[in-house]
Amino acid sequence: MSRLPLRLSLLQNATLADGSTCDVSLENGLVTGIAPANSTPPQPGSTLDLTGFLLLTAPAEPHAHLDKALSWDAINPPMGDLVSAIMAWREYAATMTTESIAERARAAALLALRQGTTAIRSHVDILLTGDALRGVKALLQVRDELRGLIDIELVALASSDAPDADIEAAIDLGVDLVGGAPHLAPDPSADLQRLLRIAERKGVGVDIHTDEGLDGPLTLGELAATVRDWPADRNRSAGHCVRLGTLEAAELGEVLTEVKAGDVGIISLPITNLYLQGWEHPVATPRGLTAIRAVLDAGIRFAAGADNVRDPFNPVGRSDALETASLLVTAGHLTLDEAYTAVSDGARSVMALPPAGVVVGAAAELLAVRGVSLSDVIANGSADRYVIHAGNLVAQSSVSYDVAEPSPPTALPVLHPSLNETEVMLS
Ligand SMILES: [Zn+2]
Repeated sequence: MSRLPLRLSLLQNATLADGSTCDVSLENGLVTGIAPANSTPPQPGSTLDLTGFLLLTAPAEPHAHLDKALSWDAINPPMGDLVSAIMAWREYAATMTTESIAERARAAALLALRQGTTAIRSHVDILLTGDALRGVKALLQVRDELRGLIDIELVALASSDAPDADIEAAIDLGVDLVGGAPHLAPDPSADLQRLLRIAERKGVGVDIHTDEGLDGPLTLGELAATVRDWPADRNRSAGHCVRLGTLEAAELGEVLTEVKAGDVGIISLPITNLYLQGWEHPVATPRGLTAIRAVLDAGIRFAAGADNVRDPFNPVGRSDALETASLLVTAGHLTLDEAYTAVSDGARSVMALPPAGVVVGAAAELLAVRGVSLSDVIANGSADRYVIHAGNLVAQSSVSYDVAEPSPPTALPVLHPSLNETEVMLS
């Protein structure tokens, strides 16, 4: 039996991303004090010694598909682009039961939790065969089972052929947001407006798969303009936005002005879009990411996530926000700080979650990873981690290494008497 969850009141001698060290007091799920390292008396049973660990805001995953995750081996689909992934998925989806969906979803959520993610927004398909709400019921069940360990928010992902009634029924059952993929619809604008009308009728927000292609529809501006007058507390975000990344400066600027005015959060999903996009471009293959730098420069709320994990839309992935952060640095050219912010504080902002991290009064959603700096942690992604949700230790992983000792140094070769030291150094 696990001894977790374990209520914590003190984190001792943690290193922060700025290199400073401190003690952190926790109470009622909040950070209540920050003091110089080792200045707070240990509190038996509820003190965690974080010597050698970097303490960060816990990651939040802004865009997952828990109903699809971990199905790659069962489906064994061909590798390929978005359309081929959808075909493979739809064939398999017809065979799924509520129980089989819940089993994979639970495993995927716990894998993300183990890596440090304490909040997940997951899309869930409105299915087109059998009970349309099998996936919804499975994910609602998993959300209940994991309450207290990880916060799960659900988005009804409706294709253009899913009836309004099924989407509304999903919201009535407890799904939080309306979603869809209008760029795949025969009439993208009509499908987008339909989804937004359903959200308005139900009084909920939206998270739309938006323009997930290097060419084709560009609906982001219309989404932003339509929600501009929505109440501020009705959340709206757009995932992927690959097409946005292909625009020239003038058109990009116009769309971003709309996005900013509509307060639409943008969610980049590097691992999946690096996989799905570019198959038709064997030379100078484009990266398939959104216009990340321009989005940040425009002051738009920005998040990044892992999206699909080991399913027809992406055969790989570790459900690890540090993997996403690493890709934001190498493929998206963000700084290490910007990259980690996108998967943690930025993701929480886009998901409308309360601020978290090592700040007095913030939610005690924290991840400690063995390492000395953000660059060390993002580069190495040590499995040595402590995961804290609502002030409780909910996951702990440790790894040990046993590496053969290097051979003892051998005697240096005798230099030829005619060579001087400089010549040897140059050789
Ligand atoms: Zn998605």
